[in-house]
Amino acid sequence: MRLTKYFIPVLKETPSEAQIVSHRYMLRAGMIKQSSAGIYSWLPLGFKVLQKIEKIVHEEQMAAGHIPMLMPTLQSADLWKESGRYEDYGEEMLRITDRHGRDMLYGPTNEELITDIFRSHVTSYKDLPLTLYHIQWKFRDEIRPRFGVMRGREFYMKDGYNFDLDYEGAMHSYNRHMISYLRSFERMGLKAIPMRADSGPIGGDDTHEFLVLAETGESEVFYDNRILDLAFGNKEVNYEQRSECAGLVENWTKPYARTKETHDETLFNMVSEEHRKESRAIEVGQIFYFGTKYSDSMNAKVQNDKGENVSVHMGSHGIGVSRLVGAIIEANHDEKGIIWPEGVTPFHCGLINLRQGDDETDLACEKIYTSLKLVGLDVLYDDRTERAGGKFATMDLLGLPWRITVGPRGLKNNVVELVSRRTGVSEEVSIDQVSKRLAVIYGLV
Ligand code: ATP
Ligand code: MG
Repeated sequence: MRLTKYFIPVLKETPSEAQIVSHRYMLRAGMIKQSSAGIYSWLPLGFKVLQKIEKIVHEEQMAAGHIPMLMPTLQSADLWKESGRYEDYGEEMLRITDRHGRDMLYGPTNEELITDIFRSHVTSYKDLPLTLYHIQWKFRDEIRPRFGVMRGREFYMKDGYNFDLDYEGAMHSYNRHMISYLRSFERMGLKAIPMRADSGPIGGDDTHEFLVLAETGESEVFYDNRILDLAFGNKEVNYEQRSECAGLVENWTKPYARTKETHDETLFNMVSEEHRKESRAIEVGQIFYFGTKYSDSMNAKVQNDKGENVSVHMGSHGIGVSRLVGAIIEANHDEKGIIWPEGVTPFHCGLINLRQGDDETDLACEKIYTSLKLVGLDVLYDDRTERAGGKFATMDLLGLPWRITVGPRGLKNNVVELVSRRTGVSEEVSIDQVSKRLAVIYGLV
């Protein structure tokens, strides 16, 4: 993409309304624009990151055997009256009346709708287990929307729902969700810690939140820092194997890690002092097992192998897709701007022409631009006739992991500069090799 043909409305001034760094950088880098309190338009650059995150979530969910679908944003109030949550949900629910006077609402979550779909079509244990999910906009009329996309009113969320015949089956679903979530966050370049949490108004026996450490986070957390050493890497998981999944979850939940709501000082003090940490953190996801709460109240039953009608065991599991964009920036930035992890970067690399209008430099840039695209790399080419300092500052703000700089001095020796945004380390690479180098870095060859 050529910057002169694209749309990145970069702001020179730091917006005064933004209190935290991710919000400031998202506004300055032209990723979002507020349309009203807690409601944002996603401008092209922000939209690209959102889509990258969404793609990772889809891939990991499908790998775990969970099935994608799409439910509407607007729901009829009837189902919520049936489950009893229409009154309970309170002021956070945006209630709407249609022209016929029917009560509608903008969905804050989808337990009721999915349970209705399930009970309409599934009647036998033979159709279980089943996990359905979607990625859809939600609305919660938060009393204090703030921090940009971190606490919006309209936000993008992955929510999945498992239906199992019994407790053991539901626990396996719970474990699959925990593993697939951890793998998703890892691919996004994030360390998200699963923490035993409080079940709150949804109610339930088992729940974990996934927290990203950040000073600006709204949660207070206590953990054993050895949990930060755990990683999946390239290891495959066999999601069908109950014992394998249970073992992985056991590994990830053994070290002490709790939010303030479930924190236990006595247990925490048993962790050796050098490993005991307290921090603030951002909740990027949560998984719940809630048993038969909705299947009882909404009559979602299947026939078991003895011919008895039994309520299905359910759980619901959410990832804050739009919040993640902010959380990733909170965890990856410096004083110059964003530093995108390679897994979610809006462009793989930036290309800077130091002498726009100079035939030889322009030609070299065109050649590199074409070769990058040929190997499958998405490149942002700064082809503006602006001074070098301004181009560097913009590129640093946008945070692409790699920058190629092309200028007359290097071209004398047929080389360009390749710089890592994260480490600042710079090296000379020959014009013919630079696209290959990056293709290797991104695992494209
Ligand atoms: P919070 O405690 O932050 O209000 P929650 O526990 O009510 O969130 P869940 O119902 O667990 O939220 O929703 C799943 C995920 O959706 C959360 O982990 C979070 O990442 C995201 N999320 C929830 N509320 C918002 C919001 N107002 N803006 C952006 N993302 C949100
Ligand atoms: Mg939550």
